[in-house]
Amino acid sequence: MAYQKFRGDYLFTGTTLLDNKHVLVTNEQGVVKDIAPIAEAGEGIQTFEGILSPGFINCHCHLELSHMKGLIPEHTGLVPFILSILKQRHATEDEIFAAIQQADEAMFQEGIVAVGDISNNALSFAQKQNSKLQYHNFIEVSGFSPAIAQPRFEVALEVYNTFKTHFPNHTSLVPHAPYSVSTNLFGLIDALDSNTLSSIHNQETPDENEFFFTGDGSFNLLYETIGVDIKQFFQPSGKTSLQTILPLISKPKKLLLVHDTFTSQGDIDLLKATPSSIQQTIFCLCVNANLYIENKLPPIDLFLQNNCEIVLGTDSLASNHQLSISSEILTITQNFPHIPLQTILQWATSNGANALGMDNQLGSFIFGKKPGIVNITNLNKQGNLTTESNAVRIL
Ligand SMILES: [Zn+2]
Repeated sequence: MAYQKFRGDYLFTGTTLLDNKHVLVTNEQGVVKDIAPIAEAGEGIQTFEGILSPGFINCHCHLELSHMKGLIPEHTGLVPFILSILKQRHATEDEIFAAIQQADEAMFQEGIVAVGDISNNALSFAQKQNSKLQYHNFIEVSGFSPAIAQPRFEVALEVYNTFKTHFPNHTSLVPHAPYSVSTNLFGLIDALDSNTLSSIHNQETPDENEFFFTGDGSFNLLYETIGVDIKQFFQPSGKTSLQTILPLISKPKKLLLVHDTFTSQGDIDLLKATPSSIQQTIFCLCVNANLYIENKLPPIDLFLQNNCEIVLGTDSLASNHQLSISSEILTITQNFPHIPLQTILQWATSNGANALGMDNQLGSFIFGKKPGIVNITNLNKQGNLTTESNAVRIL
């Protein structure tokens, strides 16, 4: 059997950053056979500048919004952003399909091997069936008025069943956000037994917590604008948004909390203290989208101090200039230079694969897995990413 051998300035295994004295050995199909010391690796080694890493896992994307690239201005805050999405998300199906295909291919080139993708409809289904990427589909439902819980759930269930036919183990039905899902709708979602992995947009703006604490803030403008009279059914809970909705999610074994820009120590303490069937709570950071929408970054040091499990996402092209995990890594290293690159690369690879339930094949260079290989180039002298860095899929 023919082997392929790869050596970089650094070899990241999925958990550990090794130096250039290690060689990755795979078979012809890219299945990992060994990490060998250079002295024992023999001939025919392909050498690369920079880091070799397992393929990246993008845990949060909205492929179906790819046609909205560049449409929404930056730094407006979340509520004006959502109103712009609602106003401008419509386009012809051909435009939407073309943008989905382009974004899917760009992610592949950039070294992403798997995506946790939010779907409000089935427009991305055809592309995903033929994609070189693997997908976990989060079929998302929203509706803040209790009166529309049942019809909204039924529409989402139809999309969910469509995706289930092709992705039986990688489709979930999930709530959009605490401020957009009624207690009734949370109940319908939670009753779905097959939902072992869930996801929710969490604490993306300070107004989200304010809305639940006091009932004030910009979410009133959102509901006024879309004509929903929230006084009929909404009472502020006097708690943060996360603390309010956590008891409504009981079935899933794993929960991805996406954004977490305004998550506090109190929220983390509550997550640890609350008896729940949720065995794994995962913080999914989308830093470039946070800068785009709110011009704020999540409290990453707080998550590290609490040993929280972290993964990375790009969010959509409506709130990001590119769907690139290496660009997310760069933004984190620029703003949190004390966090070792090895730690951030683990979020981007093995942690992501574990979160999406794909770690049997992806996320690390372990014997028998086929995780893809990405080459990150143009590092600085300290071995960190620079604005010149590129990530290129080499296998
Ligand atoms: Zn999102």
